[in-house]
Amino acid sequence: MCGVFGIHGHDEAANIAYLGMHALQHRGQESAGLVAVADGKLRRHVAMGLVSDAFNREALDKLPGAMAIGHIRYSTAGSSELRNAQPFVFEYAGGSVAIAHNGNLVNAAELRAELEAQGSIFQTSSDTEVIVHLMARAQAPDVVGRLVAALRRVSGAYSLVLVTDDEKMIGVRDPNGFRPLVIGRLKDAFVLSSETCAFDLIEAEFIREVEPGEIVVVGKGGVTSHRLPEPAQRSFCVFEHVYFARPDSLLNGKSVYRAREKMGRRLAQEAPVPADVVVPVPDSGVPAAIGYAKEAGLPFEMGLLRSHYVGRTFIEPQDSIRHFGVRLKLSPVRAVVDGRRVVVVDDSLVRGTTSRKIVKMLRGAGAREVHLRIGAPPTTHPCFYGINTPTRSELVAASHTIDEIARYVTCDSLAYLSHDGMMTAVRGEAAGTGYCSACFTGKYPVALGTSDLVQLRRARV
Ligand code: AMP
Repeated sequence: MCGVFGIHGHDEAANIAYLGMHALQHRGQESAGLVAVADGKLRRHVAMGLVSDAFNREALDKLPGAMAIGHIRYSTAGSSELRNAQPFVFEYAGGSVAIAHNGNLVNAAELRAELEAQGSIFQTSSDTEVIVHLMARAQAPDVVGRLVAALRRVSGAYSLVLVTDDEKMIGVRDPNGFRPLVIGRLKDAFVLSSETCAFDLIEAEFIREVEPGEIVVVGKGGVTSHRLPEPAQRSFCVFEHVYFARPDSLLNGKSVYRAREKMGRRLAQEAPVPADVVVPVPDSGVPAAIGYAKEAGLPFEMGLLRSHYVGRTFIEPQDSIRHFGVRLKLSPVRAVVDGRRVVVVDDSLVRGTTSRKIVKMLRGAGAREVHLRIGAPPTTHPCFYGINTPTRSELVAASHTIDEIARYVTCDSLAYLSHDGMMTAVRGEAAGTGYCSACFTGKYPVALGTSDLVQLRRARV
């Protein structure tokens, strides 16, 4: 769960990248970083927290140049600390390079052990650093050759952006295309981004997706495209459509908002229930709830309000008043739910703890019945390709039936969208486009590394 952004050929590269990262903030709130290139020199600023906390005018002014890449992080591999904040800058025999990564490598632990046995000293606990070491050791005449040699050894999910001291910007997507990466144009500049919503903010024109297994190199002569040698079955992350991407983005050329709305419509067809009002769990459940309400012919109302001011660093009073938890983030609107039969729609149910608190909250505000509808199938398996999911034993649907989960969250009824319903909503007319839905099926399209398999087996479910 991270976001990457890059710009090449703009006088205010760092300022534009800062804006782009801001639009990608939903992809990670742990750390933010920027590297800009001017006169062959790479300058870096990284800090913990949100983009708006990590940067100020002074920090941006220290990042001159016409090229920049940015990264926002939510850790999947490596701990949450400044040394793991990206982009990473490294210097090797061929010059200086900066790299930013969205995704998760499944064989990073094995490769790291091998590299360390050969004498490599790692500076971070991030899987991305493995790519850096492999590039530095590669026998190839240029940076693209080194990158290809490094990527031949890694497997898993990676959408990468890089910049070099000889003023190239590079974008790469793994052969499966797990994570998104798009290329666009802003006047004479080229831009790369995890999602198209960043292009909308900076008023760049969306050109196309970087294809799975493609390397795009932006240089003085324009854009050239290269291919990673190993082709693979396309397996784009369906959870990007369900939860992760911003609703105003396009994924595979399709509106995230419309796909979520369709998921809600399908859910209403598959799991109707007599009710008075449809209430979303904001913000992520809103489009699916709108779809559900439209299809069911029920009113859609904001029966839960979300506070946008509870950041990650919010301190809960520890001693006197404990465990506000979800209530700090969500509050019920009595005027909407009192005395009514409420359908509450969320995009996904992971541990079940949020839903349990929401049901309690709605009943506390007078709801007569609470029917929970989830716009995706039960989450039964962890993701090893870049979404931060808990271990299998913490996923409530890995070890409980739907009835048991309904009892746990104390709702009057619970239904999930079927896998087929979700895929139909996402694919639309583009059948044949391959997706990864391993978090709902356990079918992992890229073989997992030893430590991931141990984690899966160890889980007592
Ligand atoms: P819970 O069932 O309590 O674990 O939380 C479910 C809620 O978390 C839903 O509202 C989802 O929108 C949200 N959610 C789903 N996946 C993730 C994720 N990987 N990281 C953060 N929140 C998530």
